[in-house]
Amino acid sequence: MIKAIRGTRDLLPPHTDLWNWVEAKVRDIFRRYNFHEIRTPLFEDTSLFARGVGEDTDIVTKEMFTWADKGRAASERSQSLTLRPENTAGVVRAYIEHGLGNSSVLQKLYYIGPQFRRERPQKGRYRQFYQIGAEVIGPPSTGSESPVRDAEVLEMLATLLDELGLGGWSLQLNSVGCAADRARYNKGLREALKPVIHQLCADCQSRAQTNPLRVLDCKVPEDQPIIAKLPRISQYLDDACRENFAAVRAMLDALGVPYSVNERMVRGLDYYTRTTFEFTHPNLGAQNAVLGGGRYDGLSESLDGPKAPGIGFAIGEDRLILALQAEGVTVAESPEAYVAPLGAGMNAHALQLARGLRRAGVSVELGDETFRLKKSFEAAEKGGARYIVIVGEDEVKSGEFAVKELASGRQEQVSGKKLAEYLLGRP
Ligand code: AMP
Repeated sequence: MIKAIRGTRDLLPPHTDLWNWVEAKVRDIFRRYNFHEIRTPLFEDTSLFARGVGEDTDIVTKEMFTWADKGRAASERSQSLTLRPENTAGVVRAYIEHGLGNSSVLQKLYYIGPQFRRERPQKGRYRQFYQIGAEVIGPPSTGSESPVRDAEVLEMLATLLDELGLGGWSLQLNSVGCAADRARYNKGLREALKPVIHQLCADCQSRAQTNPLRVLDCKVPEDQPIIAKLPRISQYLDDACRENFAAVRAMLDALGVPYSVNERMVRGLDYYTRTTFEFTHPNLGAQNAVLGGGRYDGLSESLDGPKAPGIGFAIGEDRLILALQAEGVTVAESPEAYVAPLGAGMNAHALQLARGLRRAGVSVELGDETFRLKKSFEAAEKGGARYIVIVGEDEVKSGEFAVKELASGRQEQVSGKKLAEYLLGRP
């Protein structure tokens, strides 16, 4: 038997009803904050991620699904392609390619779709997973650099989680400063790491060489006391970055959005500048980050684009759903009515009635004329229908249908003309 590949999974009903419910809610929130959808390809030129996400990151060094795509003609060279491991680089590529920065309006773009990383699968961590993300990006003249953008995005996320019914989240906030601050901090970290490096885990020993900031992400318990004594990023922020961070925090305080500053949260992607953040939820266990994001003021330029400061985030949709399920949220759509043809020759009449009801907005499941009355009732109940509508010869003749509410057993005769309104609960 051929099975789905490890780390990938099928999403089946009724779970997909919950996924669709989440996506509909999220789209409505994006509408209220004036975001518009962008759809970029699932695969891109490998160099986009190498340059955009960062050569030394775990994603680029270990986790990408990359292949050499053969040129069509024998003389054509093959091209290295990669399934997108995240979508900020793709969105910024599209922003540059289509000259979206020429518009004098701030671009507020969102996406919903699969991402691919070759990670060790476990609960809440998959090789194909889904992200709901957004990017706010534009030339500085559009206000893209303002700390109000950071506060607005964070406030939107707090509203989003609250409206989905996922109270109990925590927002961890940090500022990683600008490129110059980070370079100085990297230097400071390297120096502080030198005398203690041999006491750290093997991963940290190599991180200390390639990307010392990553040492702060280490989860190995024995390393923690050493890491706690390392210098902190806040000591290296220049005045502008420090003021910017203070402004973001002051606006969150004014809005009443709670957060805690976590100076060790540097996040796994190289493009971040200034504000970085993560929302965690206690329902999620070890993989407790439900979303992450931050500002990336230099990303467009590092991809040969114009100056285009921006801020964005990606919600792990799989984890969002897991957290909602742990909270007891279930959504299962079931039909309003089950239309039961009763007796030979009734299928066409039942189809016609169902057609009218469906066109009027009622969700309908349809039986078959070979079913006895008892079987129709069983099918209606199993399928979760609220009402059963009997279509027999008498009903067709009179235009009056026997409608029974399954839970209460209440039965009424309803005329065909009024049936849709009746079933929708608007008599
Ligand atoms: P990142 O793009 O790494 O900042 O991740 C943003 C969010 O995507 C995380 O907070 C997770 O919720 C989710 N995420 C990242 N990697 C995975 C994965 N392999 N499986 C499921 N969710 C993931």
